[in-house]
Amino acid sequence: MECPICGEKMKKAKEPYSFAGKKLGEFEAEKCPKCKEVFFTEGASDQIDKRAKELGLWGLRQEGKLGYSGNSLIVRVPKKIAEFLNLKQGQRVSIHPEGKDKLVIEA
Ligand SMILES: [Zn+2]
Repeated sequence: MECPICGEKMKKAKEPYSFAGKKLGEFEAEKCPKCKEVFFTEGASDQIDKRAKELGLWGLRQEGKLGYSGNSLIVRVPKKIAEFLNLKQGQRVSIHPEGKDKLVIEA
């Protein structure tokens, strides 16, 4: 397989995968020796999904939509994510941007 980013021939590697701050383990992947881009194999993707389900992390990545409330944009936090983070209604949180495309909400 060639790297879709730089065209270099990719090498097989075992790469760690983390999700929601937890290490899920190491999985079979192809890694580009030049730009270090990592692509997990199809089999590895299935294993990652399975491991995420075992750890109760499945479904924590969800699509959201922004809405308006007065002058503020509001984002709904799906129930599963709220439960995972133990967020409660009325709780004070800290919100800040991290770069130009990431919003961080800290409980
Ligand atoms: Zn590359």
